[in-house]
Amino acid sequence: ADWAAAVAAVRGLPPDGRVLLICHVNPDGDALGSMLGFAFGLRRLGVRQLQATFPGPPEVPEPLLGLPGLDLLVPADEAYPDPDLVMCFDAASASRLGDLVDRLDRAGTAVVLDHHASNTRFGKINLIDPGAAATSVVAEGLLARLDVPLDAEIAECLYVALATDTGSFRFAMTTPAVHEMAARLLATGIRPGDISRQIFDTRPFGAIRLYGDVLSRVQLEPEAASGLGLVWTFATLDDLARHGQRPYVLEPLIDSVRCAAEADVSCVVKQVTEGQWAVSMRSKGGVDVSQVAVALGGGGHRSAAGFTGLGTAVDVIGAIRSELDRAIIKAEDQG
Ligand code: 5GP
Ligand code: MN
Ligand code: MN
Repeated sequence: ADWAAAVAAVRGLPPDGRVLLICHVNPDGDALGSMLGFAFGLRRLGVRQLQATFPGPPEVPEPLLGLPGLDLLVPADEAYPDPDLVMCFDAASASRLGDLVDRLDRAGTAVVLDHHASNTRFGKINLIDPGAAATSVVAEGLLARLDVPLDAEIAECLYVALATDTGSFRFAMTTPAVHEMAARLLATGIRPGDISRQIFDTRPFGAIRLYGDVLSRVQLEPEAASGLGLVWTFATLDDLARHGQRPYVLEPLIDSVRCAAEADVSCVVKQVTEGQWAVSMRSKGGVDVSQVAVALGGGGHRSAAGFTGLGTAVDVIGAIRSELDRAIIKAEDQG
């Protein structure tokens, strides 16, 4: 990776240099956590003109409202139009940045920190580590190279990011290095019990009823994905409205759906607007779902990927079914 260039880009900032930190649309714990954790690091280095933002409405999902550093957030259209330095977190491609892509072009320099194998290296300087469990691993690596010591604010942000992307240290990429990083973060005194309860285990009562509705229509297709099996469900805007819930509450649903033992591939299709759906896909290893997602205009990782689907929920599932067969045939060709 381009560590030396990234260090030089930060160290070379003029004294009053403006730094804009950005992350992907619909930010999750890794996007916001790695971005805000790094922001605290820049503050420690004396950077004063510092903004953080993400595309779309400037709404932080409720579970993440406890993150420190949210005061740095500005609406996307108010962000520095031509910053000296842009740093981008957890976005696999420029298409995940909405209107903020123009900041990349107009910035003095642009550093991309990410861990998606599908990353298109759209920065001038690219710190991409597909072996990293979260973008916060890359962020911690850069902070260390900038000689910024960890403190509780940095650590809480990076911990939220790490816990989010490892499924609370359950997923396959939970390496010794991940636990070592978690140990360094916990050593600052942050409280993992409180953090986890707030992020993962606190939802409005109405969300529980909503889960009931959405899970009651889950479908199992054992023959799909060349017999590896597909399990799926969908949630509409009407479901959300009926229970008075915001879209973020749908995110944990994929973790219930993917439990089905009979299917390697799982997906949840979430209506965004009329005819437009945010799709979450997971695989237990039989299929590289990032291939399916990329073929359908999205991206992600081997075992967790997503894209924006068009048409009806049934159309979207149909497109996934076809791409699944194609992905499996391709994998077989490669031996
Ligand atoms: P999730 O299902 O948790 O929203 O997303 C799982 C993974 O897929 C994440 O790593 C995320 O970056 C990626 N992903 C989800 N939706 C999209 C999308 O619309 N486009 C792209 N490029 N990646 C996505
Ligand atoms: Mn993310
Ligand atoms: Mn991530």
